[in-house]
This record gives sequence, C-alpha cells and structure tokens, in this order.
Amino acid sequence: MLEILVYVVVGLITLLIPLTYFLHEKEKHDKASATLQKALDAGLDQPVSLHPVIDPNTCIGSGSCVSACPEKDVLGLIHNRGSLINPNRCIGHGMCQAACPVDAITLVFGTEKRGVDIPHLTGKFETNVKGVYIAGELGGMGLIYNAVTQGIQAAHNIAESLEKKGKKDVHDLLIIGAGPAGIGASLQAKRENLDFIVLDQYDLGGTILSYPRRKLVMTRPMELPGYGQIKIREVQKENLLELFQDVILKSDLKVHSGRKVEEVNRVNGHFVIKTGDEEFSAQRVLLSIGRRGTPKKLNVPGEELPKVAYKLLEPERFAGQRILVVGGGDSAIEAAVALCEVEGTTVHLSYRGERVYRCKEENLDQFQRMVDAGKLTTLLESNVIDINEEEVTLTQNGKEFKLPNDQVFIFAGGELPTRLLEQVGVEFTRKFGEA
Ligand SMILES: Cc1cc2nc3c(=O)[nH]c(=O)nc-3n(C[C@H](O)[C@H](O)[C@H](O)COP(=O)(O)OP(=O)(O)OC[C@H]3O[C@@H](n4cnc5c(N)ncnc54)[C@H](O)[C@@H]3O)c2cc1C
Ligand code: SF4
Repeated sequence: MLEILVYVVVGLITLLIPLTYFLHEKEKHDKASATLQKALDAGLDQPVSLHPVIDPNTCIGSGSCVSACPEKDVLGLIHNRGSLINPNRCIGHGMCQAACPVDAITLVFGTEKRGVDIPHLTGKFETNVKGVYIAGELGGMGLIYNAVTQGIQAAHNIAESLEKKGKKDVHDLLIIGAGPAGIGASLQAKRENLDFIVLDQYDLGGTILSYPRRKLVMTRPMELPGYGQIKIREVQKENLLELFQDVILKSDLKVHSGRKVEEVNRVNGHFVIKTGDEEFSAQRVLLSIGRRGTPKKLNVPGEELPKVAYKLLEPERFAGQRILVVGGGDSAIEAAVALCEVEGTTVHLSYRGERVYRCKEENLDQFQRMVDAGKLTTLLESNVIDINEEEVTLTQNGKEFKLPNDQVFIFAGGELPTRLLEQVGVEFTRKFGEA
C-alpha cells in the first residue's frame, strides 16, 4: 500500500514540475503577446533609433536579453523566442545583444516600414559640408555617455581644424543643441579657448528633459573637461539634470535657450545660422540636435503667446491655473495627469481623435483615473482654432466654443531633424533595418 502511495506521489510530482513550468512559460508568453498587441494597436511599433532584431532560428529562448534590458517591458518571450514587444520604448542600450548567449541579436537602425536617416561622417565627425560637424544621437550614437563623449571629441577636432581663432564678428563655433552631446562639446570648446555659443530650442538637458518624471537613468561614469569625473551609473532624471546644471554653472557656460535654428547657410567663407529673428555667424557648426525633432505647431492665431508651451517641466508652477493640454500621445497624457495632480488646477485635454489610445498602458490607466475622478475633462474630436490671453476657441462636432484659459500645452508630435539636415546639405543614408 505504502509503495503504491509513493508511486502516486512521485508520479504527481513528475507531472506537476513540467506542468508548473508550462503554465509559467504560458503566462510569460501571454503577457508578452498582450503587450505587443497593445503596442501594435496604439501604432507604437516602430523603434526610434538603434534596436535589436532577434533571429528566431538562432534564439534558444534563454530570456537573457529580457533580463538584461534595463528598460521595463521592452523585450519579452513569445513562443519561447525573444521578441521586441514594446518597440517604441527601446532606447538602444544594446545590453540585450551583449547578454545573448548564442549571438541571435543584431542591432539595427530603422525598420522595413520606417527608415532612419544616418548622416555620412568622417572619423573626425565632419559631414560632407566642410565645417559642419555632427555629434551624439543624430549621428547614430545614442545614449548619454556616448553623446557626451562624441561631443567632447568633435569639439576637439573642430579646435584643431581652425587655422585662425577669434575672428572679429564671427564666432569660432556654434553648437546647436544643449543635450548631452552639446554639453560635452561646450565643455571641450571652453577648454580649447574657443569663442563659441550654444543654442537650444528649449533648454539645457536635451531629451533628458522629456523623460518621465523620476525615471531611473542608466549611464556610465564620465570625465567632463574642466569639471572632473562624474561617478554615476544609476541616477534619477531630476538629479542628473541638476548635476548638468551644476556643471554648466561651475564651468561658467551659457546656453541660449528658446532659440530654434531654422537654417544654416554658408556666406563668404563662414556660416550664418538663422533662428526665428536672430542671426549668428560662425566658422564651424556642430549639430548636436539628437533625433527627437522639433515639436509640430498647430499654426493657429495666438500660438506665439508666452502662455503656449510644448514641454512641461515644473507642473507645480501652474497651481490654480486653467490649463488646456492638446494631444493624445504619451507626452500629452503624462502632462495632463501631472497637471491634474497640482493644487487647484482645471485641466482640459483636447484631442482630434475619437479616443485616446496611442500611449503606454500605465499612462492610460492614470488618465482614466483622473477622468473618473472628475479632475480631467476630455474634449475628443476637437480642434483648437484660436488662442488669446484670456481664452481658447475650439471646434467640436461642428460647434465653436470658448474655454477660459491661463496656459496651453501642445503635444502634436515632432518634426524630424531630416529637414534641417537637408537644408544644410548634409548627405545621409536612410536605413531600413540595417546595422
Ligand atoms: C524615454 C527615454 C529614456 C532614455 N533613457 C536613457 C538612459 O537611461 N540612459 C541613456 O544613456 N540614454 C537614455 N536615453 C537616450 C538618451 O537620452 C539620448 O541618447 C541622448 O539624450 C542623446 O543626446 P544628444 O545630445 O545627441 O541629443 P538630445 O538629448 O536629443 O539633445 C538634442 C538637443 O537639440 C535641441 N534641438 C533639436 N533641434 C534643434 C534646433 N533646430 N534648434 C535648436 N535646438 C535644437 C533639442 O531641443 C535638444 O535639447 C533615453 C531616451 C529616451 C527617449
Ligand atoms: S537595446 Fe536596450 S532598451 Fe532596447 S531591448 Fe536591448 S537592452 Fe533593452
């Protein structure tokens, strides 16, 4: 009898182990498939820059790439094979490739559907337009450490290339973009005693400014010219921005913010750089403008008013205000939710679509929470047609109406940097899933 019992128990255990394993694998598969489906439904299935392509015939389903990826839910196992389940959230760390035990991962730019323009650069980061250089993510080298390092190297090469520095009325160098690459370049330009100027359409920090609040940033310690080593590996977005501000302050540098460069032209042997209503002259130009582009405008009357913004940095500043957020993607939803959490705000969200869905699941949940709590009013299928100091005029279902308003935030997508590259005459290759 005891013998039979032992056989039954052993038999049950033998069955249970593979069954538990199977159920666990199935759960992982179902979760990953659901995440991928959501990304597809939301149209968020195209990675922005460098990303992994996994060869299903070589992949053995070890899951090493999934564990190695520092961004949450970017990779998952579908049918026991590694898959990019949240393509839009891949930022090109490349740790998945290094972690794969069977070399099944290739890192590529672009996809069959969406090409990514990679400029042609010499080993010194100079483009085919002599005197115009590129550093950072625009050149294909993403991530903070890489961008800072390239900025430093590019500024050094530029200093070496200048025969005569300090020409009257013409700066030695104009740096466009104050993200990590622009910061690295400015510090090196200062060390090289260049007469230079830094312009940014927003402000110091670049893409880091747009990370979700309190995002944990993964990077590497780096040596900053004139400042010393910064020993960081994991740091919160806000702390990293503070650190960069401290670097700029202590290095006595200035970023000319709110200057969007529209054109760079060669005139009489130097470059003339045009922003909205200013012109700057420089012998060399460094494009460190990243890949995230420039916000699209609505092109409606009143959009030039100071109360209209395209980025939300400090939600607390808007306590007690009547705010309209325009857009239906992640940036719009994150901003609307953050503003609803501020004391005394009245927040409306205007979106031209018939439902809000093109964003991350956690943002959608938070958005719904605010709508259900009556803190956020959604105006679907609506369009802004006019903005003035006191109110905003919108249309919805063919009817025109006005909202009392103190502040407008517009998140209507971005214009890629390709336009500026073309205007400057920089040659590039459009990559569709190539290394
Ligand atoms: C959500 C998210 C999370 C990330 N997390 C990490 C991470 O944890 N670790 C990591 O290493 N990397 C991370 N990255 C990637 C990293 O932020 C970028 O690779 C890096 O910022 C690139 O630096 P850059 O200086 O080349 O460009 P950017 O940081 O994009 O800076 C470009 C600057 O140029 C300005 N600009 C653009 N066009 C113009 C114009 N026409 N005129 C004037 N100014 C202009 C922009 O306003 C911007 O300030 C993340 C990216 C994203 C989107
Ligand atoms: S490239 Fe980076 S963000 Fe993308 S999947 Fe690999 S480790 Fe994750």
